[in-house]
Amino acid sequence: MSSCASLPAETVPVEDAAGRVLAADVVAAADVPAFDNSAMDGFAVRSDASSEPLRIVDESRAGRPASRTLAAREAIRISTGAAMPAGADAVAPLERVREVGGEIELLAAVASGQHVRRAGEDLRAGAVVLLAGTILDAGALGVAVGAGAAALSCARRPRVAVLCTGDELRPPGAPLRPGEIHNSNAVTLTTLARQAGALVALAETVPDERAATEAALARALDEADVVVLSGGVSVGPHDHVKPALAALGVAERFWRVDLQPGKPTWFGTRGAQLVFGLPGNPVSSFVTFALFARPALRALQGAEPLPPRERAALAVDVSRRGRTQALRVRLDGGDGSLRATPTGPQGSHVTASLLDADALAFVPAGDSALTAGEQVPVERL
Ligand code: AMP
Ligand code: MG
Repeated sequence: MSSCASLPAETVPVEDAAGRVLAADVVAAADVPAFDNSAMDGFAVRSDASSEPLRIVDESRAGRPASRTLAAREAIRISTGAAMPAGADAVAPLERVREVGGEIELLAAVASGQHVRRAGEDLRAGAVVLLAGTILDAGALGVAVGAGAAALSCARRPRVAVLCTGDELRPPGAPLRPGEIHNSNAVTLTTLARQAGALVALAETVPDERAATEAALARALDEADVVVLSGGVSVGPHDHVKPALAALGVAERFWRVDLQPGKPTWFGTRGAQLVFGLPGNPVSSFVTFALFARPALRALQGAEPLPPRERAALAVDVSRRGRTQALRVRLDGGDGSLRATPTGPQGSHVTASLLDADALAFVPAGDSALTAGEQVPVERL
C-alpha cells in the first residue's frame, strides 16, 4: 500500500457522488432538523392544558408554519414534520383527541415534549457527520444533503487500463475456431475495476507478440493511473508482458505470490503509476484482482484498502497444498459462527466457482488436511 498515495480531490455534485470516496470530513452547516417539529399528525398543545375543550386557532403544515403563538385553551392543527408553533410544547396525536365543531377534547394527558422532535436531534450544527475516507452510499449521501452539502470533495477516480493478452482470445459471442476461447477476463476485470470506483480509460485485447504488447502497454501507460493486465506473465515463450514492461520503465516490485490461485501475479510501478500483471486463468485473475488491485484502487481513493478479516469454520474437509489457497466460499451463519462452504471444484479455470461466492477463505499451506469445523480467515468479496 506504500505505493498508493491518494489521488487529488475534486468537487462532485451529490447527484453524481454515489460510490465515491470522501476526501474531506463533512460538517453539518446547521442543526438537523433545523426547528422543533411534530412526530405525529395531530394538534400542538400546551402540556399544562386542562381537560376543557381547546379551540383550534391555526394550522402548521409541512413547509408552512403557523403564524400565531399558541395561548391557553388553544390548539393548533399540526402535520408530521411541521414546525412546532411558539407556545406549544407537546403534540396530541389525532387518535388521542375528539374533534367537535372547531374544538378538540384531549382523551389522554399530554406530557411536555411528547411527540416533539427537537432541533438538532439528528445532526448538530458544526458536528462532523461523515469522515474523510467514507464510501458514499445512499445513506451517507442523504446525511450529506441534510448537513447542507450540494457537492462533496472526493478523491479523483483512478483511471484504469485493462489489457487482456492472448492470441486465443475472441470477443464475447464471436464464433470460435479450434483453440480459441471467449475473452471473459475483459468484462470481469473492467466490472471489478468499476465496482472498486475506477474509470476504465482503455480496454484492449493484445496478441502474444512482443511489439504489440509493448505498444498496447505504452498506450495504457499514457492513459491510466493503474494498468491491469491478464495473462502473459508466466515464463512461457509467448509471455511478453514482463520484458515489455521493463522496456517501458516499469520497475518490478514483486513477481509470484505464495497463493493458489494466482502464483504468477506481477506488480510494478512507474512513478505513481501501478501495474498489475494478473494470471490469465479467469479465476486467478478475479482472485488476484480482489486481493491486490482492489485494495490499491481503494487506497488511491483514500478509502480503507482492505475489507475486515473475519473467521469462519470450514463446512468440509480441505486438503492442504504447498501454497496458501484462496478458496471461493459461500458464507452462512451469523456473527461469531460463520460457516464457509466451498463453491464446488476450485481449479483456477473453473469459473463456476465464482458463482454465489461470498468470500475467499484462506487455507494456509501445509501437509495435513484441515477438517470440517476448523476456523480459517475469510475476506468478503
Ligand atoms: P496465461 O496466463 O496467459 O498463460 O493464461 C492462462 C490461461 O488463462 C490460459 O488457459 C488462457 O487461455 C486463459 N486466459 C488468458 N486470458 C484469458 C481471458 N482474457 N479470458 C479468459 N481466459 C483467459
Ligand atoms: Mg497467454
